[in-house]
Amino acid sequence: MKHILKFKLAVLALLVLTISCSRVKTEITTRELSDHIKYLSSDSLRGRLTGTPGDSLAAEYIRARLSGYGLVPLSGDGLQRFKVTDKVIAGKDNALVVNGTSLTSGEDFTPVAFSGNGTARAEVVFAGYGFSIDTDSLKWDDYKGIDVKDKWVMILRSDPEPDNQKSKFAPYSNDRNKAMIARDNGAAGVLLVSGQSFDNSDSFDPLEKSGFSVGIPVFRIKRGVADAILSLKKQNIIDIEKKLNTLRKPSGVETGTIIEGRSEILNYLANTRNVVMLLPGEDESLSNEYLIFGAHFDHLGMGGPGSSSRAVDTVGVHHGADDNASGVAMLLEMAGKFAGTKGSHKRSLVFIAFTGEEVGMFGSKHFTDNPVINLSDVDAMVNFDMVGRLKDTKEFQVGGVGTADSLKERAIAVADTNLLKLTFTEEGSGPSDHSAFYSKDIPVLYFTTGAHEDYHTPSDTWEKINFKGMVNEGNLIFRMTSELANEPLKLKFKEAGPKEDPNRPPRRKGITLGFMPDVTGSISNGLKVEAVTPGKPGAIGGLKKGDIITSIEGKVVNNIEDYMFRMTQVKKGQTITVEVLRNGKKEVLIVKL
Ligand SMILES: [Zn+2]
Ligand SMILES: [Zn+2]
Repeated sequence: MKHILKFKLAVLALLVLTISCSRVKTEITTRELSDHIKYLSSDSLRGRLTGTPGDSLAAEYIRARLSGYGLVPLSGDGLQRFKVTDKVIAGKDNALVVNGTSLTSGEDFTPVAFSGNGTARAEVVFAGYGFSIDTDSLKWDDYKGIDVKDKWVMILRSDPEPDNQKSKFAPYSNDRNKAMIARDNGAAGVLLVSGQSFDNSDSFDPLEKSGFSVGIPVFRIKRGVADAILSLKKQNIIDIEKKLNTLRKPSGVETGTIIEGRSEILNYLANTRNVVMLLPGEDESLSNEYLIFGAHFDHLGMGGPGSSSRAVDTVGVHHGADDNASGVAMLLEMAGKFAGTKGSHKRSLVFIAFTGEEVGMFGSKHFTDNPVINLSDVDAMVNFDMVGRLKDTKEFQVGGVGTADSLKERAIAVADTNLLKLTFTEEGSGPSDHSAFYSKDIPVLYFTTGAHEDYHTPSDTWEKINFKGMVNEGNLIFRMTSELANEPLKLKFKEAGPKEDPNRPPRRKGITLGFMPDVTGSISNGLKVEAVTPGKPGAIGGLKKGDIITSIEGKVVNNIEDYMFRMTQVKKGQTITVEVLRNGKKEVLIVKL
């Protein structure tokens, strides 16, 4: 008897458990939102940096929740795998021999992240600050009167006014740009040295996390090494810096010292993945069309140098509860609500959690380049990035409403103004993953509660999330998108602003060819054009999607950094030549800026 009772209880318990596990979810709840956000922003995921174990754990969590709601992989196992640059380190093969003495890498000299790999034995020419400035108000050419062809060029870092933030020299003081100018002048390698008034401690920074090679060896050297190189001329770098900062004119000199240098920079790739899951449409004829929901799940990891943390001096878990565990929680809750609500979606819904957003929107770009489904069957893309900080003003921002007719009116129609005060922006591009979809002519909606003082700092934690606010946001988004998922006609794409991401260069001096570049660094002998903005100089000059820009004004362009630098050297109104590779063939375009 007792045994039978026990058995019955066990069966009952199992039944209750089964029912509660497969319970159909219909409501967005503060409880579930907070569960998702607490886990994703927990210390154990260590800030979910792309390519780290935390990134992978987050992806597994998201996939498990989505399949728990009944979603199926859009393809394969639901993880869309790819590689990203993880770190740049100095290899073992870095050497510098000065006056017959082998110096120690890391102590006397160090390669920089943007150094090319190679060897050069040649004389060192000192080229002051390495400037080549020719503007109406400022002229300073350190290369005038010296020949650096096939030589090492030694350059002082920074500029004659290192403490002046608004110095007219500031735009020319960047190390990489100086190395590019040296290379343009034929240099075999570059030695960068800090003057005393620029950096009294004369210390080396850790290598940056990514570096686009300038193609020739580039070393930072200590002042003592610079002095050894200058010894034949009986000069030293501290005196030279003083003289340059007072006299303010070029003073290049051949040092007579021959050095031998060898550089090795290693780029490591890391594995990462988007999570891409499908909720099939309920209507046979509309289920071959899609509404895409997206949110990035990666964040800044432990922050530190080279990351986009705003707390530059702190290394610690960047929890990213609002950015963007909140968006992921919204994504999961939305998936659950759609899956549990009959009649909510005639179209198929694709839920994508993106990785790689913080390091360059790599995940969304990877998906739009390798979409699995036909992008022309996509009705709209709905992006959540930082939706957890609804303020007392209840202001909720809806971006991208200019990318199809009536999006704004639809949002207003379903909003309860007691709960949310909607504000709108028209542009299809913005600082998040929807930009990649907009550039493929897909209508987008971008929901966010906006930036705040904890943005990109370790103090973006779950305690500060407005969960009730998120429920109200979620209900509005559900009403609006369910309408989109059910109506007979697909949205019609409308152009709304440039297809470049406004947060991404080139933007210096406002001169641009007008295109969205491929920033993944997957090709190293040019810059690939992902999309061309109609009406901009590039489009007018014949630039086409898929072109690989290899030079501007006859000067080499190997990557995005090179391109940005070249664009700082041209002027508005100028006519320039742009060399591109198109279907493997060289073409020269004439572009009026
Ligand atoms: Zn974000
Ligand atoms: Zn962010």
